[in-house]
Amino acid sequence: MQCADEGALREVHHESPAYVRLSLAAAMTLGFVPGWFHRNAKLRCVNLLLTYEDGCKASCAFCGLAREKDATWTAKKFIRVPWKTFPTPDVVQAIKRGPSHVGRVCISMITHPRCRDDVLAVCKQVAQVTGLPVSLLISPSIITREDLLAMKEAGADRIGVAIDGATPEIFDRFRGKPVNGPHRWDRYWQIYEESIRVFGRGMAGAHLICGLGETEREMVGAIYRARALGGSTHLFSFFPEKGSALESQAPPPIGNYRRIQLARWLIDHDLTVPDRMAFSGSGRILDFGVTAAQLDEAILCREPFETSGCPGPDGKTACNRPYGNEKPGADIRNFPFPPDDEDLEGIIRELSE
Ligand code: SF4
Repeated sequence: MQCADEGALREVHHESPAYVRLSLAAAMTLGFVPGWFHRNAKLRCVNLLLTYEDGCKASCAFCGLAREKDATWTAKKFIRVPWKTFPTPDVVQAIKRGPSHVGRVCISMITHPRCRDDVLAVCKQVAQVTGLPVSLLISPSIITREDLLAMKEAGADRIGVAIDGATPEIFDRFRGKPVNGPHRWDRYWQIYEESIRVFGRGMAGAHLICGLGETEREMVGAIYRARALGGSTHLFSFFPEKGSALESQAPPPIGNYRRIQLARWLIDHDLTVPDRMAFSGSGRILDFGVTAAQLDEAILCREPFETSGCPGPDGKTACNRPYGNEKPGADIRNFPFPPDDEDLEGIIRELSE
């Protein structure tokens, strides 16, 4: 993804609910900024972010929005890409008139006290005016069951919970007390479960980030927990955000990520469970717990290696987040389109790296 006018990204700060931030991909798709997508990827879900001058109150070590690095807040990145602020009514109208391949809108909260009400106000406008399905990526540390009920009432049909870390230790180290953050592992899973109770089976997803120091076995355990509770996993590959505490940490090895993508797909399609899988002493996946024919079929259908996220009206993943996990180029982690034959050859090689 390339922006033809980086100067257009400089901004005066305006706050939600009157304003929202758009990912660069969404701003390009809706015609707010010029640009083009590598390999002609098409963004199928418009991602909005609520925004406040004093920023996010949390301080997650991997996030470019973290409070403690706030000096240049307006230049911050979130899931690798810059976000620019626009008036909410303009954005809503642009989505309504937008390209037909856009099949969903997602509104992300940040950890800010005003988000609870503002997410409802923005959700109502988006749902009523655009008629598109709306996901809310919520901040469990500041919401309750009543908020979830109000979100449903406001027109949201799905919930995302960014658990991100695969184990309680990783979650705590990067999001909890050690970084002076307000987030708690148990609270996140509790709100995830509550979301499924309020929105229904299959209507909540857990975001998990691969490459924060977990083993493959631990990641498989978290993916299965999300599935067993009635939802699914939306998988991310760690990318070092500039300005975040983890800016110098490397992304996970590609082989590691490919195996986790495949395991995620098999688990979320109820084809395997961790007890049927085999792992090495260091936790690497040795056996996916399915027959050779099932494994071949899964790999050759290519879908495990596409971005996992909330679906659109056609039931296929709408939230394809083009290049949200890597710079546009040869190393595509989450394919925003079906991998082509050459991609598939590479993926098959990478699976055993
Ligand atoms: S998968 Fe995408 S649409 Fe769904 S909650 Fe996450 S960011 Fe939003």
